[in-house]
Amino acid sequence: MRGARIAVVGGGLAGIAAALECADGGAEVTLYEARRRLGGATFSVERKGHWVDNGQHVTLRCCVFYRDFLRRIGTEHLIAMQPRLRIPVLREGKPPAWIERGHAPAPLHLVSSLMSYAPLNRRERIAAVRAAAALRRLDPNDLRLDRFTFGEWLRARGQSQRAVDALWNLITLPTLNVDAENASLAQAVQVFRTGLLDANDACDIGVAAVPLQQLHGDAAAVALDDAGVRVLIGMPVRGIDREPGGVRISLDDGPDTAHAAIVAVPHYAAGELLPPGVVETDALDELGTSPIVNIHVHYDRRVLAEPLAAALGSPVQWLFDRTASAGIETGQLVVVSLSGADDEIGEPVDTLRDRYLAALARLLPAARDAEVLDFMVTREPKATFRAGPGTRALRPPQRTDVPGLYLAGAWTDTGWPATMEGAVRSGLAAARAALDDLAVGVRAPEEAVA
Ligand SMILES: Cc1cc2nc3c(=O)[nH]c(=O)nc-3n(C[C@H](O)[C@H](O)[C@H](O)COP(=O)(O)OP(=O)(O)OC[C@H]3O[C@@H](n4cnc5c(N)ncnc54)[C@H](O)[C@@H]3O)c2cc1C
Repeated sequence: MRGARIAVVGGGLAGIAAALECADGGAEVTLYEARRRLGGATFSVERKGHWVDNGQHVTLRCCVFYRDFLRRIGTEHLIAMQPRLRIPVLREGKPPAWIERGHAPAPLHLVSSLMSYAPLNRRERIAAVRAAAALRRLDPNDLRLDRFTFGEWLRARGQSQRAVDALWNLITLPTLNVDAENASLAQAVQVFRTGLLDANDACDIGVAAVPLQQLHGDAAAVALDDAGVRVLIGMPVRGIDREPGGVRISLDDGPDTAHAAIVAVPHYAAGELLPPGVVETDALDELGTSPIVNIHVHYDRRVLAEPLAAALGSPVQWLFDRTASAGIETGQLVVVSLSGADDEIGEPVDTLRDRYLAALARLLPAARDAEVLDFMVTREPKATFRAGPGTRALRPPQRTDVPGLYLAGAWTDTGWPATMEGAVRSGLAAARAALDDLAVGVRAPEEAVA
């Protein structure tokens, strides 16, 4: 393995995880990132003296590879993890409802919360508990489940539209970035089982206590340097080709070579980088994209009492207090996160401003008299692939059929939706495949191009 040279293309979480794993495995690694920073889809921008993330990111206690990754880059302590799942669900003109876990073993830890969940009537609560129990018996790797939508399944299990809106979509939208009606049943089973139903504490929510750039990209730059990885930022790769014994990386100022390449770019960018036939470009197109919009409102005072909350009967989906993490000393920065935001992605700022300031005022009484010091919208039109039926078969494994070429990225086949956990898992899987192949001489280093 020593002396094997591995190129990693893309400096998001998948590429960073792959590069660190390869370096830890003894390879000489170069990481190429097109942008002038690491962190990929997780970053922050400076605005009026404070930091704004491109979009609120949430993790769960069950995201063990992501948390290991943070440990590896030295930032695990910068995640504020709830000691116990507790979500206030805000409703206009009514007291909040609560989703929280108890101390009983899974899946009983959620029963008492579900049975007192105010937005549903008694019948709907019982039906929800039954559906959760049935969900727990399904296998997320059963490809037959990937033919159906989660919405169809919920209806067949007697879930009312109100239960879908007030309970199931509260989790489906932020985790899958599509609603139940558009989500793959298999993917929903994975999320609900792994994130909620299979272990008592899996569902505890963690959020970054610092800007995302500090949590991921900047810390990773130091860790990669310490690990001896050559990091080239502002260095877009234009193409990757096979050569005898290795791969050729085309750059604006000439080619580089390596024994193997891990391509960790988004799915919509992978096809054009790779030689024909390595990935099915039609399948990547079919994976599609789903947008996320975040609305950042800086109030002159505290308006949201909790660190995070969900909302019902409102255009607001989830909201977060980002004041401390943004470095703000006056007032409160409230961030509204909108997943599956097909309707909002193209809306003008003024329209969003009118709609969301009014909606926040209806949900948060203290916001009615508060002055808005700043209002900003961040949009990610291609935030994730669309986790619809049939998706699983479209996601390729990390080891391709072509020697020396590996794929990584939250979109590759990890079993997880497009998440930070999925990205890290994919990077580790690609790195291990490359290291294994190089170790057994599938692509013997001595044959490498000079
Ligand atoms: C607004 C938003 C909110 C989200 N919320 C959550 C959440 O709450 N929880 C969660 O777990 N996940 C969330 N996600 C998803 C999560 O951020 C992604 O799944 C994950 O970060 C993807 O990592 P990646 O490394 O696979 O891809 P990316 O982060 O997209 O990285 C790919 C990298 O490749 C680079 N690149 C592309 N082309 C080239 C080239 N030719 N040469 C060199 N480099 C290239 C890109 O610049 C980029 O840095 C969210 C995403 C967004 C956008």
